[in-house]
Amino acid sequence: MSRVILENVKRESIIGIRYMLSTHPQNYSLKNNIVEIRSRQQKTIKFQNNNMPIEKIIERIIKIKNHKKQVEWILENFVKSDRNSISIEIDIPEMATKIITNYDKIFQKIDKKEEMAETPVADVLAAAFREILLECGVPEKNPWPSEKRFALCLTHDVDELKKTYQYLTRTIHYIKQRKLRRAVRNFISAVPDKLLDKNPYWTFDQIEEIEKQYNVRSTFFFLKETAKVRPFAPETWKHYGRRYNWNEPKIKEKIQQLNRNGWEIGLHGSYESYKSLKLLSTEKKELEQVTQNKVVGIRQHNLNLLIPDTWELQRDAGFVYDMSLGFKGGRYIGFRGGVCFPFYPVKGLLEIPTTIMDISINQGYRLRDFEKILETVSYFGGVCNILWHHTVFSEEYHSWDRIYEKIIEKAIEMDAWICNGRDLTKWWNENRTRVTGG
Ligand SMILES: [Zn+2]
Repeated sequence: MSRVILENVKRESIIGIRYMLSTHPQNYSLKNNIVEIRSRQQKTIKFQNNNMPIEKIIERIIKIKNHKKQVEWILENFVKSDRNSISIEIDIPEMATKIITNYDKIFQKIDKKEEMAETPVADVLAAAFREILLECGVPEKNPWPSEKRFALCLTHDVDELKKTYQYLTRTIHYIKQRKLRRAVRNFISAVPDKLLDKNPYWTFDQIEEIEKQYNVRSTFFFLKETAKVRPFAPETWKHYGRRYNWNEPKIKEKIQQLNRNGWEIGLHGSYESYKSLKLLSTEKKELEQVTQNKVVGIRQHNLNLLIPDTWELQRDAGFVYDMSLGFKGGRYIGFRGGVCFPFYPVKGLLEIPTTIMDISINQGYRLRDFEKILETVSYFGGVCNILWHHTVFSEEYHSWDRIYEKIIEKAIEMDAWICNGRDLTKWWNENRTRVTGG
């Protein structure tokens, strides 16, 4: 058997190389910064850094909308080849690492933010790199079960269980949006809800019904907020409604029932937990006492993520996957980090980036924008990970539940594998070989 040897892989490019190789089924070894891949030919691939500013390259990539052209453009402009070796003028793994780890800084500098968000720039590099490997006799394999085109991952964050301060804050929100009728309806609904002891945010049965229809089971991330509420710091007030007790009989029973019936229970890491091993470990352990089995997945509340520290802490606390890489507050939809593939940012932890959040609807995003994202993910063959908070299945949000269903319907029509975080991680860990060493 021959080998492809990757030379000049820098220590600091390790996240990029892990990410680009994680989409291949082969066994790799990584020793002293040299990566060896089994192939049909003996070849060396050298990475060189010609110091072209990363922002310049990204700007040029996002100018070309058709993704196939982007890959061809990279190959034409940056790859030189002779019989036994290929040199790449830009150091692709280094650049991928920079995109993933410094995404926010690069994003700040770029004018067309929406376009940047909706282009998986790192995946374009990875696709170009896959083409080079293919040329070297390293076969490519569809990463998903049953030869599905791509994956749609379904998730819900459970931030608060009872509608309380939202009778006021949501009213203000609607007034700001000049939706006066909704504002009034939201405000006065507090009275009958209170009288009838109705909790509009108890939407679990409804979500279960919807998902049963499509024979899919999502992940629910439950939160245990312990961040302090300070009376003179309004930014901390939101923590108040988020203190619910997993051991209260009604919620405990619901978590256990979901767990029994095939839904996944994950941890929604509390506000400060992204930098605390102690909080991550305690919250995980307490949730496991409720579910009576292992909790493997996490998404940090507010998508708080310190790269790479949070990933290391989560792994050390025993989590197997994370979903915190995504645009905060639904300001944009698409690919924060420039990636639509799961990858191992640190040894032993899979990152499944979050692609679309429900509250992006408040920013003006609509179903057709979500469908465009599905098309992009389908083109690259990655995963579209959607987050629909359980609260938006309540009446107050009108048709948001319908949009959730329509995304599922569209994805089924497009031949996607519909899964949750646990299914995806299990599949990826068993079928996509990790880079060993490093
Ligand atoms: Zn949250």
